[in-house]
Amino acid sequence: MPKPSARISGIVPSGKDGWEVHFAAMTRKQAGEDIIMLSVGDHDFDTPSETVEACVDAVRAGYHHYTQLPGLPRLRAAMARISTRCSGVDTALSEIIATPGGQAALYAAVQATHDPGDHAVVVAPYYATYPGTFRAAGAGYTVVEAHASDGFQPRAQEIETALKPNTRSILINTPNNPTGAVYSRKCLEDIAELCIRRDLWLLSDEVYWTLGGGEHVSPRALPGMAERTLIINSMSKSHGMTGWRIGWLTAPADLVSLVINLNLVTTYGLTDFVSRAAIEALENDFGVEWIATTYAGRRSLFVDQMRGLNNVTVRGSEGGMYVMLDVSAIEPDCEKFAWDLLEAEKVAVMPGKSFGDAAAGHIRISLCQPDDVLREAAGRLRRFANSYE
Ligand code: PLP
Repeated sequence: MPKPSARISGIVPSGKDGWEVHFAAMTRKQAGEDIIMLSVGDHDFDTPSETVEACVDAVRAGYHHYTQLPGLPRLRAAMARISTRCSGVDTALSEIIATPGGQAALYAAVQATHDPGDHAVVVAPYYATYPGTFRAAGAGYTVVEAHASDGFQPRAQEIETALKPNTRSILINTPNNPTGAVYSRKCLEDIAELCIRRDLWLLSDEVYWTLGGGEHVSPRALPGMAERTLIINSMSKSHGMTGWRIGWLTAPADLVSLVINLNLVTTYGLTDFVSRAAIEALENDFGVEWIATTYAGRRSLFVDQMRGLNNVTVRGSEGGMYVMLDVSAIEPDCEKFAWDLLEAEKVAVMPGKSFGDAAAGHIRISLCQPDDVLREAAGRLRRFANSYE
């Protein structure tokens, strides 16, 4: 075969990718072992039935055709209304482009703001696709770690020391995957001040914004930030639609016009009937409150179950779909901890260091299981932790 491009070959460098415990557990579960999977971030429940019905109606009604490149106007208008609600800043249809999921919005955001050879700062712990998304754009990046002792709130001064003359952006994610940290207003104000002073884009991944358990603060709402903030949004988590692949980017209108050209050469617009169902789901908030309440309930259930353990500490974990546990008092090597837990108690978790060094010594618990399963898993984890007392 002729030589593939170095850029595409380098998106996911070969070797370990951090998912080894998960895949081993999955194989054993499929072979019949009683393993509780707390390692993946996909809902255990189906998409709300109203959304499914809207999609079936759209398929039957003949919505089988190409749609406009930036998304159907009614879809963009519905997304703009949600962005206004999410960020607190009036958002126009021209500032929205629909994408097949939040990941595609992130890809578009990075492509739109970086040339090959440019540099970015990525705050860790981070979602696993971030490095590859910069590599796909031919851009370099420096990882700046938020500290467990700060509840995983990043420090703007530390971000500043990582800036280079060719740095174009900072990428943050709140509520955060994997830590569940919800960045404070002060933390976002400090990062915003830095972006303005150093003339940087801020890429703000807010796909968990409905799962923050309180007021959502978006950096787009801070003074001077609307013109330099790109928000990555998605219906995967908020509306229970992971497999539908629908999300959007909120960005300055001039940048959106350029991203439309990217859609021309990549997606060529979204799926017609999925777009129609998404309009109904967005206009009627199908599932949003129930999903947010469900995860809030699961989070407090799990965190409560961890109380009283001397060698396990909850960090971050204010929002999103995850709880982060510091297990370094039991085993500093979190990957070994995850393997030992799987062996001893048949619970699969993600080692924190799969998400960057900042989360070493931790494990990430996914809350994508019903209450009774989470209670059983927490019981197994307690027994495992107590065996080290
Ligand atoms: N950003 C974060 C932080 C995520 O956790 C995920 C998915 O888990 C995504 C983006 C991508 O979401 P989507 O399913 O909308 O592509």
